[in-house]
Amino acid sequence: MSSQDWLPLFRTIASEVRASVTPLAGSPAGREVVGAGAGGDQTIYLDQIAEDIVVRHLEEAYRRGLRFTLISEELGERDFGGRPLVLADPVDGSYNAKSGLPYYAVVLAATEGDQFRDVTFGYVQNLVTGDEFCAARGGGAFRNGRRLHPEPASFDGGSIPLAQLDAPTGVEPRDRASAILKRAEKIRQLGSAALNLCHTAAGGIALQVTPAPVRAFDLAAPLRILWEAGGVASDFDGRPIEEVSVRLDSRTTLLASVTPAIHRYALQLLGAAVA
Ligand SMILES: [Mg+2]
Repeated sequence: MSSQDWLPLFRTIASEVRASVTPLAGSPAGREVVGAGAGGDQTIYLDQIAEDIVVRHLEEAYRRGLRFTLISEELGERDFGGRPLVLADPVDGSYNAKSGLPYYAVVLAATEGDQFRDVTFGYVQNLVTGDEFCAARGGGAFRNGRRLHPEPASFDGGSIPLAQLDAPTGVEPRDRASAILKRAEKIRQLGSAALNLCHTAAGGIALQVTPAPVRAFDLAAPLRILWEAGGVASDFDGRPIEEVSVRLDSRTTLLASVTPAIHRYALQLLGAAVA
């Protein structure tokens, strides 16, 4: 199965997840805690509904002859007769979904191995708007079927037009980012790691800033999209992240932009060695 062949299956899954999850967003039923996921977070009802849809479609694909191993945020790993790995975060941005904040996504990836660089196809759909981002390795990145050719963010060499911060509660990670945030004209903290990186790929977010380690699993699909759009990503200290594991127990910091000059500038601000 070539990487592009995943698109129809992932799109079908996303469309059904969207139809089922969006009406539950912000509702008491949707946010009821039903268990704990393999990724370590609480599983709420709308996560469970979404994962059930993902698993049902993959079971049907298996019966049609497809072979793979699923790693999903809630259930963990399940062998469907071989490789590649299929990574599924049925709802990324669950906190937004349960709060009724309209910014959350289904995230799917196919990967030959368990490092970021091995991801052959990444797919992210905003479950509120239906906005779809996808990329096959070596094939460019697409938003709603149109190739991403981002205008390089206007960068004057001294200020970052818009920085998107992912930093958990606690002063220290935000302190780590402060040298960058002081130079940002606008700051957002939107709440879906996958959508944030897709909008970094599309240029709306000039710089993604993740100073404390987050789960790498959530980043696998959108990093392929960012890289295929011509973007750059490193960890917060400027080290390459291509060999970071995509598995549920792996974590990484992140600094990403579609504009290499902004990424370099951010590393300079942090006083880190420029990669
Ligand atoms: Mg999730």
